[in-house]
Amino acid sequence: MTNPLRAALGAGRFCYVVELVASALTREARLLETASGLARLPQVVAGSVTSYAGGAMGHDPLRVAAAARARGLTPNIHLTCVSQDRNDLGKTLADMHALSLENVFALTGDYPSAGDQPPVFDLDSVQLVHLIDELRRGGMVFHTMVAVSPFKYTEADCVYQYVKLEKKIAAGADAAVTQVGWDARKFEELKRYLDERGLRTPLLGNVYVLGPKTAERMATGRPAGCWVSPELLAAVRAESEAKDGGRLARLERAARTVAVLRGLGYAGAYIGGTHDPAQIAWIIRRAGELASSWEPLAAELRYGAPGGFYLAAARPRARRGRRDALPRALDRLGRLLPVTRDTPLRRALTRLLAWIDRRPPAAALLERIELAIKKPMFGCQACGNCVLGHLEYVCPQTCPKQMRNGPCGGTDNGRCEVVPNKPCIWVAVHDRAKASGSLEGLKTYLPPPHRQLRDTSSWINYFLDRDSRP
Ligand code: SF4
Repeated sequence: MTNPLRAALGAGRFCYVVELVASALTREARLLETASGLARLPQVVAGSVTSYAGGAMGHDPLRVAAAARARGLTPNIHLTCVSQDRNDLGKTLADMHALSLENVFALTGDYPSAGDQPPVFDLDSVQLVHLIDELRRGGMVFHTMVAVSPFKYTEADCVYQYVKLEKKIAAGADAAVTQVGWDARKFEELKRYLDERGLRTPLLGNVYVLGPKTAERMATGRPAGCWVSPELLAAVRAESEAKDGGRLARLERAARTVAVLRGLGYAGAYIGGTHDPAQIAWIIRRAGELASSWEPLAAELRYGAPGGFYLAAARPRARRGRRDALPRALDRLGRLLPVTRDTPLRRALTRLLAWIDRRPPAAALLERIELAIKKPMFGCQACGNCVLGHLEYVCPQTCPKQMRNGPCGGTDNGRCEVVPNKPCIWVAVHDRAKASGSLEGLKTYLPPPHRQLRDTSSWINYFLDRDSRP
């Protein structure tokens, strides 16, 4: 059976994927009616079935996907790392394979909006792409999409999004979809970033049919990672005064955005904000009419943050002297006492730690000493798989989603999605790496930690080669 999504992207044919929000509020029967309607549009190559959209449970995406396929629409299933550990994710992927559901959209996922217990984020999205790739090498067939947000207006947020995309591509991503946004310069920036690095991964631009209610919500930064500028909000409010409530204006904006994406060389459009096949058909037709005038339309699609960061305007990297004192001192110590390669010191410490490890009370005491030192310094949470040296001495366990390969898409001007008054930990990682001229090092893949090592000494685990590290 051919996969229209893979076929269109492989052939370089501009295509459309439509998001089907399988939230608890949408009746399943209605979703499937939409699927039937979309299946009749030849340019629509897949329906993207959400899972856990906005941080809340919805319908079972596999069941919705299988039913959509029965109605002629190829599904693309959102698979998030929320509240599923690596075994659960592997099982879901095995179920998808058994059902011949090939298209997977690998995401970190929104932080749950309810619940007393902190959720499990056993893997991050890069590790999930790795897991999918391993299963592929074992014979399962998957086409993997990933997300990226160019719509970040501080340097650390923006650069790290691109670094993380490179990691996802290296891990096996087949295509990338942008977050929602209405800024042609950012769409162009992302495309240029990949082109300059010779990365041919197809990009789909997110085209959201923006009505007044959603615009009001996104103007406050909700859902996390979605942002509507005050100018765009004012435009949408004014449009909604029209007799049709602004319907034609928002479809026109969507069609113009599609025309801009085609002009920029995107592989397709990912349409959200409407489940109405007639509206999708209108957007597709109108985007075709506008194709030749995409450049002036791009000049109009400028709802970015005034004074915000754009990669083209990046200043030369900061001088080394601006790096924090702590990472500098620790790096210096590492050079004075080399243990990352085979040295007499490493051999002596390995013997000592092996001796301690054979005596459980001594090993437990060492773990408590390690925690007493590292908790106040780094916020250590005794994961037992220390990667401080790979992350500019920022502990990844202090990220509420416990990610190891870079920030999620939910950051808001350098602030955390989950604790908004707290800076995102990845800003410090970026800034320190930039100051030391080691941004390239952030592209190193960090595997998931071995959870069974929790509450054991990472020093012992390191010297006895038990831990999980690059
Ligand atoms: S990475 Fe693990 S061991 Fe290292 S500081 Fe963080 S919680 Fe502690």
